[in-house]
Amino acid sequence: MRNLIRGLLAALIAVVALAGGMLVNTWRQPSRQIAATPAPKLAIDADAAARRLATAVTYKTVSFAPGLPTPLEEFRKLHAHLAESFPKLHAALEREVVGGGSLLFTWKGSDPAAPAAILMAHQDVVPIASGTEGQWTHPPFAGIIDGGFVWGRGAWDDKGAVLAILEAVEHLVGQGFRPKGTIYLAFGHDEEIGGVQGAAAIGALLKSRNVKAAFALDEGLLVTEGLIDGIDKPAALIGLAEKGYLTLTLRSKGAPGHASMPPAATVIGSLARAVADVEANPFPADLAGLARTSYATLAPEFSGARRVLLSNLWLTAPLVQRLLAVSPSTNAMMRTTTAPTIFKAGDKDNVLPGLAEAQINFRIAPGQTMASVAARVQGIVGAGIEVAPVAGGNDPSPVSSAEAPAYAAIATAIREVFPTAVVAPALMLAATDTKHMAGIVDNIYRFSPVRTGPADLARFHGNNERISVANYIEMITFYHRLITRLQ
Ligand SMILES: [Zn+2]
Repeated sequence: MRNLIRGLLAALIAVVALAGGMLVNTWRQPSRQIAATPAPKLAIDADAAARRLATAVTYKTVSFAPGLPTPLEEFRKLHAHLAESFPKLHAALEREVVGGGSLLFTWKGSDPAAPAAILMAHQDVVPIASGTEGQWTHPPFAGIIDGGFVWGRGAWDDKGAVLAILEAVEHLVGQGFRPKGTIYLAFGHDEEIGGVQGAAAIGALLKSRNVKAAFALDEGLLVTEGLIDGIDKPAALIGLAEKGYLTLTLRSKGAPGHASMPPAATVIGSLARAVADVEANPFPADLAGLARTSYATLAPEFSGARRVLLSNLWLTAPLVQRLLAVSPSTNAMMRTTTAPTIFKAGDKDNVLPGLAEAQINFRIAPGQTMASVAARVQGIVGAGIEVAPVAGGNDPSPVSSAEAPAYAAIATAIREVFPTAVVAPALMLAATDTKHMAGIVDNIYRFSPVRTGPADLARFHGNNERISVANYIEMITFYHRLITRLQ
């Protein structure tokens, strides 16, 4: 009895000590946010800037699908609008049209030894889903400014960024500013369908000129408001990496026959089991690498139990992983995801088909490759199922540095313009044009200075896309601060 009490007491002391240690560890970790002074207001006519963006929205620079014709005439009209809107920039920077509709501006630096930078955005937009035009508050290509917002397709994704970068540079050129390192402005015209004609051609052109840049900044993660449970402040996330993309076709083959005498295992049954097995064996979650850096940076900004859990990942990682796996969005941050998207077999109710085919789409987390994903899937389904990759996949991008001077410049510019926001590196789940700059740049960052709340997510590629004029001015100020910081 006495031994039991002694044992319980020892266990209790251990638990209290551990809890105390966790709490001390929690409070000992101060905020990792860079200190910055809020940026002074830019002397810019907000109404005129909003009108220039609204006009840009009226050109139907739509990317429909690879292989379909590009509306180059609309791009030419947009280019004319830009030339008229930003005369100082067009006089000071070299301008080239690449791939038919993309634009490359070269802003020569004063010091050839200073590192170059590439600011990216895309001019094309996604189509309006057919039948939804009537659901828009204002027609998607009317370029309406109403209620403090610029409405229309592209106002957010991504003409807002194209025009905001141009506004910032126009302003700086007007002040007689010249960058130390050369700055390239690269505006693709087919990002929404892979960027093969545009950004890839710009990347190849820069490579042929032996251009080396310290970093590229493209559209990416956002200034989220109310989208991360447990953080009250806006969270500005900078994408350091992009997931890879792979679709695998799974095939089950057998002898076709009459349904009156079926074999024990049919091709449909076998394929269904294979797909169910792949789904039941998700890729392991791994709260390591970029996901861990991300949560460790954000940990001091959380409140309550979340802060304690995230500040003690050395102990709590398995539990945190289980908690994060519950929500599809946080789950996708930690692992390669498995999404069966196509399943087909058979065309007559009394005939056994000889072939059943399914496709599973994987978004590959850093650390894995297309080959390692395919090998694991083949291992799960066994030799009886054929596994073949669909063309067009790509491995995950390398993970850029959160220690590089360019990261600090971006993070500081964010804190200057969004003083209440917490900044953290993160993994980007969607794909951008930045893959076409591989080999030219040391680091690639993906960030859009766009404020986004829960109600805004459906506007992205959806109906009623818009950007607030106040936020648009913040975007311009962000690029202005960033360019002046690159000295
Ligand atoms: Zn975009």
